[in-house]
Amino acid sequence: MTAHRQPALLATDPELASLVTAEETLQAQTLRLIPSENYVSAAVLEASGTVLQNKYSEGYPGRRYYEGQQNIDRVEALAVERAKGLFGVEHANVQPYSGSPANLAVYLAFAKPGDTVMGMALPMGGHLTHGWGVSATGSWFRGVQYGVRAEDGLIDYDAVRDLALAERPKILFCGGTALPRTIDFEAFASIAQEAGAVLVADVAHIAGLIAGGAHPSPVPYADVVSTTTHKTLRGPRGAMLMCKEEHAKAIDKAVFPGLQGGPHNQTTAGIAVALHEAAQPSFTAYAHAVVANAKALAAALLERGFDLVSGGTDNHLILMDLTSRGVPGKVAAKALDRAGIVVNYNTVPFDPRKPFDPSGIRIGTPSLTSRGLSAEHMPAVADWISRAVDAAAKGDEPALGVIRSEVADLLAAYPAPGLPVA
Ligand SMILES: *Cc1c(COP(=O)(O)O)cnc(C)c1O
Repeated sequence: MTAHRQPALLATDPELASLVTAEETLQAQTLRLIPSENYVSAAVLEASGTVLQNKYSEGYPGRRYYEGQQNIDRVEALAVERAKGLFGVEHANVQPYSGSPANLAVYLAFAKPGDTVMGMALPMGGHLTHGWGVSATGSWFRGVQYGVRAEDGLIDYDAVRDLALAERPKILFCGGTALPRTIDFEAFASIAQEAGAVLVADVAHIAGLIAGGAHPSPVPYADVVSTTTHKTLRGPRGAMLMCKEEHAKAIDKAVFPGLQGGPHNQTTAGIAVALHEAAQPSFTAYAHAVVANAKALAAALLERGFDLVSGGTDNHLILMDLTSRGVPGKVAAKALDRAGIVVNYNTVPFDPRKPFDPSGIRIGTPSLTSRGLSAEHMPAVADWISRAVDAAAKGDEPALGVIRSEVADLLAAYPAPGLPVA
């Protein structure tokens, strides 16, 4: 028997310890295809679980409201310097607790309640925080939304421009959660400039691809770049706001004291480590492999007759419309879960079904690429998905069990970063 990985936790709270162990096993043995998830390295895990947790540090390095910041200031300064170096930005704030509060800070910096803001509609692939109705950003601000074209699933930049000129939003968001294609940041910047809007590139999903040179960078074009740190960037759960120097004060004031209190220093440390890892040549290779895997997986799915929104992918993400297979997205997602393949059900553009029971599923390759799977494995992955969807349609439960064991067999040879080797 190997030693327990959390011996103190096991001694203090065996009930909780057993849940963590079960989650380690689940993450080790399943094919995780949720495109916003990843496996952080053991180093990021260690940095995120340190005594930095114990420290209060309201303020910014060199300007704190509490004493005893000798080490914390250096941790945060390191994270900031690494963010600036990696993304080539003038200013970085690494304190936002997560992507949603980071975006809320942007509203606080550049708009007043009731102002018009513009983003992609949630059911078209945008994010809740881009002014969608059920979010505070859609009830405290007047959200107007753009989408994609019905014919090809792509953003119609002329339509975005027309809407922006008609509505004159204070803030224009680009980026989203279910966009399988490259975002034209230059086009958005020219629209924002014409409309007099602050352009925010929310690159939460693709920050790792940008860092690794596998997606164009918004930095030359956007006023503010908002990102989570835990998706393709492969850091702890957190976020960063990056901007030109002229907006630095407004952004910093909005994050603290505008919206937050003390930063989560243990997370800042994990972010610093993740940024260090992302600056290595191996991460450039990783980012390109994520995209190569997604393209290979998309091709293999198309060969098996699946409909993909926009016909494929340029990045880490694939949006599958299952209408033609006769299986709702939720039924497919739950069947795939029983087959050891973890995805999420998702609306597709112009979805005739309800958001809680939509037509599609959303998949992506960041996690499987972190395990070292490559393009040669993607036909097998597509096969499993196809068989599981067919099994879902027929209610063939044993078939799902067979897939689950095939998946676990392959994954045993590709241990995940940060997890115990089975
Ligand atoms: C994930 C995501 C967010 C929100 O991040 P949380 O950390 O879940 O709050 C914001 N914007 C986009 C585009 C995202 O994909």
